Amino acid sequence: MLVNLSDVLTSEGRQTSMEVPLEMTCFQSRMGSFEIIDKSPVQFTFTNTGKDKARVEGSVKLTFQTNCDRCLTEVPTILDLHFERVVTSPEISTEDEEVDDLSFMEGYQLDVETFVYNEIIGNWPAKILCKEDCKGICPVCGQNLNERDCGCDTFVPDPRMAVIQDIFKGDKEV
Ligand SMILES: [Zn+2]
Ligand SMILES: [Zn+2]
Repeated sequence: MLVNLSDVLTSEGRQTSMEVPLEMTCFQSRMGSFEIIDKSPVQFTFTNTGKDKARVEGSVKLTFQTNCDRCLTEVPTILDLHFERVVTSPEISTEDEEVDDLSFMEGYQLDVETFVYNEIIGNWPAKILCKEDCKGICPVCGQNLNERDCGCDTFVPDPRMAVIQDIFKGDKEV
């Protein structure tokens, strides 16, 4: 959805608030593709802050279907986003260095989907864990080690050592 900001960008002192539904059902990025299982409408407040300039404030709460990075258990990721950005009219956007990346602006219109997408990217967690001390899965049998200990020998030799061991074995055969 596009929100026309020409009025707020050109009228001194103007402030408007609105609630916009988010169409996005899935978040796709370099990190993967994650279904959005719950979302609030996007709350926006636009405030004129000078000639051809406005502040965009607001929030949106999103729940994504994600998996623990270590044990792969399904664990939702909730992003409660609060944002504040400065936007300008297209005439001055390239001249003002204070202004953030305005890839979500199309002329005088703000593209809500792109705007929220950028906010998600900027706030996506570096690591998704079901719990802080998740033990992960056994590399041998795949057992979720949070549930029980499988007793496998999970000692993984240093690959450089493995090469040396192979050399020894070769010597014995000669
Ligand atoms: Zn886990
Ligand atoms: Zn195991």
